[in-house]
Amino acid sequence: MKKYALVTGGSRGIGKACCIKLAKMGYSILINYVSNEAAATETLNAVKALGVDAELLKFNVAKKDEVESAINQWQEKNSDEFIQVLVNNAGIRKDNLMFWMSDDEWHQVTETNLNGTFYTTRAVLKYMLNKKTGRIINIVSLSGIKGMPGQANYSAAKAGVIGMTKALAQEAAKKRVTVNAIAPGFIETDMTSSLPVEDLKKLVPLNRFGTAEEVAALVGFLASDESAYITGEVISINGGLHT
Ligand code: NAP
Repeated sequence: MKKYALVTGGSRGIGKACCIKLAKMGYSILINYVSNEAAATETLNAVKALGVDAELLKFNVAKKDEVESAINQWQEKNSDEFIQVLVNNAGIRKDNLMFWMSDDEWHQVTETNLNGTFYTTRAVLKYMLNKKTGRIINIVSLSGIKGMPGQANYSAAKAGVIGMTKALAQEAAKKRVTVNAIAPGFIETDMTSSLPVEDLKKLVPLNRFGTAEEVAALVGFLASDESAYITGEVISINGGLHT
């Protein structure tokens, strides 16, 4: 039986690195993305080059109907299989001071980062519970632990996912499904490409941004059998920026 991993936002950045890491661990990869077909195809080719099966699963995590129909359709086509590892990685940021923050900035960020994690997890969870095994790995952020000025929407969404992680870990433990979160600090990706890197890295004790591959290595560990006794945790990966 094949082992499947679904990575939301797998087309670019941390998600792409997770697809490659999990492929190297022998998982067949379902690569979710929302709009960047070219980047998604590049990830698909990179995964296939490792000799592993992969397919694109396009849906907007913020749209409940799209999430459910994509996952249910995949499940109908693959009725003997199930998604054993879910990496909830899709995310956006739309920073603004609360005073200036529009309804759209609030809703788009909470709907993608928080609601999207809920919709995708719920759709995949029933199969994991049924099979009595599974790994759910939520990519949150330092912003959801400490709060960041200009990110009330993003901090709230990521803090919400942290709460969801801890609650679901307790619900799912008896079915041997573990649920953990990873909280990166500054990681070099498209999401941080407009930030003043030289100034910000001075704030980081390790004096650099992290790489997507370093986050993916932690995802790989949480997906592995070796992490079977870890659940309900939030693991930081931030170069010492906040402890
Ligand atoms: P990124 O380079 O901007 O990539 C974002 C990914 O999410 C893309 O694959 C994008 O798909 C996908 N995506 C966005 N909205 C989506 C939606 N509605 N439905 C499905 N997919 C969607 O971001 P990143 O830096 O790798 O961030 C990945 C995760 O890490 C996010 O949750 C982010 O909040 C978190 N994080 C990042 C940092 C950092 O410093 N980079 C720090 C802490 C936490 P398309 O290619 O189709 O647009």
